[in-house]
Amino acid sequence: MLAYRLLQAQTQPEFQEVPDPHPGPGQVVVRVAGSGLCHTDFTVISRDRSYWKNERPPFTLGHEIAGWVEEVGTGVTKVQRGDAVAVNPSWASCGCCHMCRSGEENHCLYQKAIRAPGVGYDGGHAPYVLVPEVRFLVPIGNLDPIEAAPLTDAGITTYSAIKLALPGIWPGSTAVVIGVGGLGLYAVQFLRQLTGARIVAVDSTEARLKLAREYGADDSVRFYALRLREVGMIKFLPTARTGVSGTSSSGS
Ligand SMILES: [Zn+2]
Ligand SMILES: [Zn+2]
Repeated sequence: MLAYRLLQAQTQPEFQEVPDPHPGPGQVVVRVAGSGLCHTDFTVISRDRSYWKNERPPFTLGHEIAGWVEEVGTGVTKVQRGDAVAVNPSWASCGCCHMCRSGEENHCLYQKAIRAPGVGYDGGHAPYVLVPEVRFLVPIGNLDPIEAAPLTDAGITTYSAIKLALPGIWPGSTAVVIGVGGLGLYAVQFLRQLTGARIVAVDSTEARLKLAREYGADDSVRFYALRLREVGMIKFLPTARTGVSGTSSSGS
């Protein structure tokens, strides 16, 4: 199969022909429907050789994966061929500590480094991905796996933050989303679905603000210093000069 792979640290990834994966005991091969492109891909590409210890390139990129179960290894009973699944990318988690067992594998007490499909292991930018343990599969029912793929990182990151904030967001209150790129647009949608709050999107790009309004934001604010001062937010920020440069320094 053709896979998009990081062949060496700090080099441009390339398409490469690799053997189709087959599952060993307890493993599952997933036919990839969607594999999200993420800013983390750039981070992975930029890591130098010393970052990669046991799991070094070459490997296939792509850590936001959903698809259908293609083949299961011996002993796998939780899923069967054809099931629609998303792939939990926390592959360095132990699966046994109390964080893992409460579904917070990303906070595993025993993982030594962030390792995932596409981050040290072969990932989803390929027709198939080998999932090393069935516990990393999440059934998604009738959800379209193409749309579900980025939920495994971009979506869950935003959802986790908003879920913690829910007790303080009641109907009639205002939730401000600063930055409505990939993650921020998820934030707008989760807030729309989970709360009755008025949602205000803040960004420097009108095109993104337009998308945010389409996805459920009630109002939008173009992000530059004068406007922020008008809406009273500037008092929370360090002293800013007027104009875009002042805003960027205050936004850090
Ligand atoms: Zn990602
Ligand atoms: Zn653990």
